[in-house]
Amino acid sequence: MSKQYKVVILGGGSGGISTASRLVKAGIKDILIVDHADYHAYQPAWPLVGSGAETKEHTRKKMKKVIPKGADFIQQKVTAIQPVERIIRLDNNSQLNYEYLVVALGIQLDFDKIDGLTETLGKNQVCTNYLYDYVDYTYQSLKKVKTGNVIVTKPATPIKGGVAPENSLFTFDEFFKKNKKNRPDLILKNAHDTLFPVEKYRRQIEQYIKQKGISYDLQHDLIAVDGPNQMATFKNLRTGEQYSMPFDMLLVTPPMSAPDVVKQSSLSDENGWLDVDMYTLQHVRHQNVFALGDCTNLPTVKMGAAVRKQAPVLAKNLIAQIKGKKLKARYDGLTVCPIATEYGQAIMAEFGYDMKPKESMPIDQSKTNPLLYQLKKRGIPLMYWQGMLKGRS
Ligand SMILES: Cc1cc2nc3c(=O)[nH]c(=O)nc-3n(C[C@H](O)[C@H](O)[C@H](O)COP(=O)(O)OP(=O)(O)OC[C@H]3O[C@@H](n4cnc5c(N)ncnc54)[C@H](O)[C@@H]3O)c2cc1C
Repeated sequence: MSKQYKVVILGGGSGGISTASRLVKAGIKDILIVDHADYHAYQPAWPLVGSGAETKEHTRKKMKKVIPKGADFIQQKVTAIQPVERIIRLDNNSQLNYEYLVVALGIQLDFDKIDGLTETLGKNQVCTNYLYDYVDYTYQSLKKVKTGNVIVTKPATPIKGGVAPENSLFTFDEFFKKNKKNRPDLILKNAHDTLFPVEKYRRQIEQYIKQKGISYDLQHDLIAVDGPNQMATFKNLRTGEQYSMPFDMLLVTPPMSAPDVVKQSSLSDENGWLDVDMYTLQHVRHQNVFALGDCTNLPTVKMGAAVRKQAPVLAKNLIAQIKGKKLKARYDGLTVCPIATEYGQAIMAEFGYDMKPKESMPIDQSKTNPLLYQLKKRGIPLMYWQGMLKGRS
């Protein structure tokens, strides 16, 4: 048995819920959201939890609480998307039919691509801020470190929350200062060839890293972890050389890719990402399919702040498509990367597809500022729960 919906939204995360709210407000009926999760999380707060500045329980709400009134919800895993037949297959062997589809399935965390990592995650001082269940282990581990190496990694793949590793390094430095503890060596192993894709902010981040005495290597990728012996193995992507280093704490940002269900569908591009027009967010081959957020091939840094700008564009264009009108709304790639440089201070990189700064505040956002920290810690979460998810901002 299958049921037909006007609009099916795959994923009840930042993109799915904010789009659903806008469609409901615009009077679109017969909307279904599908997500396998029990909870909706505000993930940008997780690095704050990892450094002891936030509690993890504050970062999530029951999924049913964020589903807008006027939309239906099914808690199931999506196992296949068949855009030609307009069929969605679910884990319980049922299927759905749709007239219009919105894909907002987020990004897949590929912990298993690093040898030995899954067995030791959450043990032996091996941490990640990318999973709700482990994020408090980061802070527990931090409190135990007395000396040696604290290594923070960033993989070569696109990631969500692009500056989360740097955020953690800066707040770890503050943690040791504040607690008057001898500071271990803080080390960033970044598989990219630059610290940041926008020159103005790259210079500033480099300056903070140097001021704080943090050492970093570019194009050094984590490839294996030996938890019991606390050794991490890296590959120098320039020379191909592999080497191991001891750690007293290892904070891993895992490699990431498009969700398997997207990769396996005909909606994906050659790299597995959902293939959308970068301005209209309409699928390049299927006019009744739209997508936003981390699962897409939009050439911008994958952030909730980018989703905030994409949702109104998608909703307007989807409604235009339903009404048989021209798609006029355009997304210009705008994304925002806030970085807490210390407790109480932050910078806020803001830019579009052209990788040029496009700052929305009347201050230099590359300079550390208490206002930007308060915005990151209090203002943006409030805007998220009360504005963006409700289709208001
Ligand atoms: C540690 C960390 C720090 C971050 N820092 C920031 C920051 O400072 N600023 C910022 O703007 N952004 C930040 N982000 C990124 C931000 O959270 C994401 O970019 C944003 O949530 C993307 O929205 P989305 O809708 O694409 O994906 P998500 O919000 O991840 O939603 C995807 C949804 O799809 C569901 N799903 C996935 N697969 C299936 C399936 N097969 N079947 C059913 N449901 C499925 C998931 O359960 C989830 O609810 C951070 C993220 C992390 C993890």
